[in-house]
Amino acid sequence: MTKDVRVRIAPSPTGFFHVGSARTALYNWLFARHHGGKFILRVEDTDVVRSSEEMISVILDGLKWLGIDWDEGPFFQSKRVQIYEKYVKSLLDAGKAYYCYCDSEDLEREKQAAYKRKEDWQYDRRCLRLSPGERAEKEKQGRPKVVRFLVPDEQVSYYDIVHHEIKREARDIEDLVIMRSNGIPTYNLACVVDDYEMSITHVIRAVDHITNTPKQILLYNALGLALPEFAHLPLILGDDKSKLSKRHGAASLMSYGERGYIPGAVLNYLALLGWSPGDDREVMTTDDIIKSFSLDRVNPSNAIFDEQKLEWMNGQYIYALSDDELCEHLRPVILESGFLNADEIAEKSEYLTKICGLVKKRLKTLVDFTEAAGYFFIDDFEFEKEGLNKHYNSETITLLNHFLPCLEKIERYTAQEIEDGVRDFANNNKIKARQVIHPLRFSITGKQGGPGLFEIMETIGKEKCLMRVRRFIDGFKGQEEKKK
Ligand code: GLU
Repeated sequence: MTKDVRVRIAPSPTGFFHVGSARTALYNWLFARHHGGKFILRVEDTDVVRSSEEMISVILDGLKWLGIDWDEGPFFQSKRVQIYEKYVKSLLDAGKAYYCYCDSEDLEREKQAAYKRKEDWQYDRRCLRLSPGERAEKEKQGRPKVVRFLVPDEQVSYYDIVHHEIKREARDIEDLVIMRSNGIPTYNLACVVDDYEMSITHVIRAVDHITNTPKQILLYNALGLALPEFAHLPLILGDDKSKLSKRHGAASLMSYGERGYIPGAVLNYLALLGWSPGDDREVMTTDDIIKSFSLDRVNPSNAIFDEQKLEWMNGQYIYALSDDELCEHLRPVILESGFLNADEIAEKSEYLTKICGLVKKRLKTLVDFTEAAGYFFIDDFEFEKEGLNKHYNSETITLLNHFLPCLEKIERYTAQEIEDGVRDFANNNKIKARQVIHPLRFSITGKQGGPGLFEIMETIGKEKCLMRVRRFIDGFKGQEEKKK
């Protein structure tokens, strides 16, 4: 890279941080960090009706959550109107733009009528042809006016880093409005001016903007500004192959935080959504991704958002955490579930760390903890229905009843001693150890599967285990009594 890299994201605050925008932000950030350049945040908030502080914070919070930091900004386009005015004026003065007094609704009607007749429609430059007298008359009437860019008749061609050679005939582009009647610039003008003023070297954005690029290049040329490089990123599609949208549920970045995803895993997954490191690595640290990142390996074809893959990756990230780190990540989940309050979390940190170590392998998301580890915190957990069908019968109850004194006898209540106790009991009674282990697990946890039973029992403690086994037995007996 010869010049210092400067890239940006320019989100419009819509109150929703789409994972596609997050991916665009991420690729810009990775590119900047890889080249030791700058990543700039610019908020395209000229659509004043829709923008609000709250909507802007959705974007800032989303970036922070992912761990994406920015070097300059946020800059707000709404505060830069005077800068845009200067550029629009220079185009007007040079005869490269003109005022248009046409009523936008009239034009829209003409356009629709033409479409109905299956004809193309483009603004016919009627206001460019106004005589000075006609213009003066419209001014006198105080007619609202927009500024249109006089699109020159030339071919636009440029090299897109992802899509390579792109050519477009400018005659297919109508004279676009660059400033609205309220004096606020439109996207294309503001984007060109800002990218130039902010010395952006690479415009990296989603491919849905690729049709804007020739218009922007014509504006750069008309203003005599040097072009940045362009890279258009593939779209992200849902599993139904349509563009990922709000109705896909998966589209909101922040919903992942709420659903127990770890930012690093989401970042890793998004990085691979349209890019690959060129080998078969998938689970990568952010540093490795930064080191390997290059726009050359961005795939031009659309990427499919695969939630299962993301879930798998999240599980890998959770598994790679130390038990203490996992506890830290789980704090909000534990508080939310009501298992412990903040003081108890601090007091029982050793107990928590132990539980984390036991269930870690089984968590795909952090919220899975509630289901996977509830029995470590509450006694009145639900028993799985299938397990009840299997274990809630007189045969098992008799067996557990018979085993109970062995459990009572264990003095050093460690996983090893418990295991020895169970195996001795099985040997002495000529049964398989699992014939005791399965119902024992069920009576203590309400579940048929889970981490090693003896470790669970050690963690929960002797008193609680005994209480739960007795409760299981008594519950069954009570039920039988009622039947009589
Ligand atoms: N406001 C546009 C968007 O959110 C930015 C496009 C661009 O990067 O030029 O998609």
